[in-house]
Amino acid sequence: MSFLFGAPHRYHQGPGKLDELGPVIAHCGPAPLIVADAFVLDLLGDRIRASCAAAGLSPQIRAFAGEITYPAIDALIAGLGGQIPSVAVGVGGGKALDAAKAVALKLGLPAVTVPTIASNDSPTSASIAMYDENHTMIAVDRLHRSPEVVLVDSALIARAPVRFLLAGIGDALSKKFEVDGCASGTGITPFGTRPGLTGIAIADACYRTLRAHAVAGVAAARRGEVTADLEAVIEATLLMSGLGFENGGLSLAHSLTRGLVKARGAASAPHGDHISWGLLVQLAAEEREEAFLRDLLGFYREIGLPASLPELGMDQPEAAEIAAIARGTMTAPHLKNLARPVDEAAIIAAIIRIEALAGGRDV
Ligand SMILES: [Zn+2]
Repeated sequence: MSFLFGAPHRYHQGPGKLDELGPVIAHCGPAPLIVADAFVLDLLGDRIRASCAAAGLSPQIRAFAGEITYPAIDALIAGLGGQIPSVAVGVGGGKALDAAKAVALKLGLPAVTVPTIASNDSPTSASIAMYDENHTMIAVDRLHRSPEVVLVDSALIARAPVRFLLAGIGDALSKKFEVDGCASGTGITPFGTRPGLTGIAIADACYRTLRAHAVAGVAAARRGEVTADLEAVIEATLLMSGLGFENGGLSLAHSLTRGLVKARGAASAPHGDHISWGLLVQLAAEEREEAFLRDLLGFYREIGLPASLPELGMDQPEAAEIAAIARGTMTAPHLKNLARPVDEAAIIAAIIRIEALAGGRDV
């Protein structure tokens, strides 16, 4: 069996790391493009400029707002006035990071990501989610090289609203089970190969780290404090989760988002919240024992992850709405990444089982 393992060239994490941005990207060249959310620039622009100046860099700094569309990326590049940067650096939430990655792909530059929240697995990955003007995802483009540097300032993550971290934990928790599904089925990873043992091991470590540290880590985040538990949660949520899915593949939990993004009330819930619920449904579809599901549900309740459709925003889901989620799910390419195939009826049954378990009532 052949496979491919991919990862960022360097991953830095710790409190105050933002002040090292200039030195850690200096080897990429003297003229970085820095793309950041406007409010992030307001908060952190001075520190970004100071660290670049200390390393002798002359950055072009641009605020990015709006959706990641091909015209928006073209406009961002046109605004550089013909000065081709040495590296594209994204600072902020998912959109700023994807904007920097998209510029890097288009101009053939290295990409650097500086996530200021830990709400999903994308900062370490080569994936770029592209949208149209109606906020519909139209493609997942891929960098030819994984990010050159990922720089995570854990003090910024600790101060961000905790709902972002919870979404990131939801996106990370599922990876062990999705990777196992991909490995035992016939699926391939985003790199286009079967999963290797390293990806499987990282996804397993991601789950074990979160079960061991998330209760204390989330409590620290609620206090805005950086602790060893929170550092462990951040590493699992950003590094292990990203390496796990890229080198291990995705499965039913992520397939369910195909239905959820069109579901009444639940559509606008964060991706990671979709995956929290999606993991429970995947485990139910795999016919896991009741005690196993109840144990995981207890963990969800302890840290505050959503476990039912009403908790995602869909009050009193109707049978037709659950069937529509299952129908959307059946269109996902990851669906064959399971030990045993599922059909629409099996997904509906799994959703109903989880709704009854998490809500304590029949639907
Ligand atoms: Zn995800």
